[in-house]
Amino acid sequence: MKHAKKHRVTRKLVQSGSADSAIGSFDYMIYTDRRARVVKLKWYYGKGLTMTVPWKARFPSIETIVLKKSEWLKHCFEEESRLMNQSTLSNLGVSKKVPYMGQVLPVRIYGPPKKAAEINLHEDELHLVGSQDVDEVIETHLIKWLIRQSRLVLCPIVDRIALAMNVPVRLITIRNQRTRWASWSSSKTISLNWRLITAPPSVIEYVVIHELTHHRHPNHSKEFWKAVSGTCPDWQNGRSWLINNSHLLHYYRPVNHRG
Ligand SMILES: [Zn+2]
Repeated sequence: MKHAKKHRVTRKLVQSGSADSAIGSFDYMIYTDRRARVVKLKWYYGKGLTMTVPWKARFPSIETIVLKKSEWLKHCFEEESRLMNQSTLSNLGVSKKVPYMGQVLPVRIYGPPKKAAEINLHEDELHLVGSQDVDEVIETHLIKWLIRQSRLVLCPIVDRIALAMNVPVRLITIRNQRTRWASWSSSKTISLNWRLITAPPSVIEYVVIHELTHHRHPNHSKEFWKAVSGTCPDWQNGRSWLINNSHLLHYYRPVNHRG
């Protein structure tokens, strides 16, 4: 007979859907949580509203929230569109500027269109040779280049740090996650978001160290952070860069509802 390990669920999704407000419609999720003492609202950019309520307690309807918290919701909507416009990865073709390893590289376009356009990195600018002079086409070339570069640049960094930390990495995957910069799985796979290539080298190192530390410390425990700061004294700067640039992921810092 199988003995299931007793596992108490601490958080459960009780309702989700889409709601309308005067400013626009948004997605929402309502969770019941054993640790929650009061109703809490959080706005996740790109994801919408999350409401956490005390375990099995009655909770306000989403219509009530829309009515009572309209000012706060308006603020969330405005902040979201401000951050969306700031996303430097969504208008590369128009701006002709590429964020790359903590720098911003201007793009120069050369020559008549060819079947296979080329991109070359020259000192601190990018030369795009043989592309059509159409913003969307240019953007596609630049994004493809960034993804290719991310593999070339990030993999050797992982190899070097894994060796130094004595972590057996089985696989490095470069992914197009919309929600996170990186992750580590128990199958010894490190997944890195290609958008990390926009970050300064010290930030990339922090991310790799952070993920590889999860090999020995799966959770963000005190011991985990102690180990991270031991390997990467500059971890706090790395962490703030990721938070301040999370608009690059189309997924933003949650905004806590205050008051
Ligand atoms: Zn982590």
